[in-house]
Amino acid sequence: MVAWGRADLHLHTTASDGWPTPAKLVEHSARLARLNVIAVTDHDTIDGALRAADYASRRAKKLHLIVGEEVSSLDGHIVGLFLERRVRPGMSAAATIHAIHEQGGLAIAAHPFWRTQRRVHSGTAHGVGWLAADLDFDAIEVENATPGFYVFNQLAHRLNLGLGAAEVGCSDAHIVDAVGRAFTEFPGTTAEALRRAIESGTTRARRRRYQAVGLMRYAAWGLAHQRYVAAG
Ligand SMILES: [Zn+2]
Ligand SMILES: [Zn+2]
Repeated sequence: MVAWGRADLHLHTTASDGWPTPAKLVEHSARLARLNVIAVTDHDTIDGALRAADYASRRAKKLHLIVGEEVSSLDGHIVGLFLERRVRPGMSAAATIHAIHEQGGLAIAAHPFWRTQRRVHSGTAHGVGWLAADLDFDAIEVENATPGFYVFNQLAHRLNLGLGAAEVGCSDAHIVDAVGRAFTEFPGTTAEALRRAIESGTTRARRRRYQAVGLMRYAAWGLAHQRYVAAG
């Protein structure tokens, strides 16, 4: 029997709009969040992930680190995993997925149904929506632990019922309290095993409840970034 590991594949640091430094994120993931694999996926940069990988290789050798990026495509956010180079923002979703695959990476439709009233440069949608079904994604993020995302997650689950793509659960953490609040179970404990699980569709998306203090801190982060106010 292969042991099942836990991965959190969508995490932010100070390299974009997250609060923890790459080192703090690695420390927390390794010691408190009971994770085997993490992917650092800052907005439009791999700098935080490279710093986290460097730190983990010296100070948290049991934690497997994947270099990733949450790319702002014209059609919504796409998480690229196993990257060697930054993927530039501002391309179509199809071109972004192609650029990720070209360097041997995996492409995930992050929070596909998240829409917001807040204006961002690409409009008001943060997810790729139904394009998640049409394009060559390797996995769909069916659980995103951002407070208030319940309906968006329900829609993503429903989409993937028909699609049958690999499912992943990710925290999308911008504060350490959120790390591991949604996660992906997979057979094995290494980054390579996680990759095989995505490619063979054997991943399982899971959730864990927030503690009240974490929700409060997330509300503080949300106010600072005008991202959302209500926690639910
Ligand atoms: Zn996003
Ligand atoms: Zn994110």
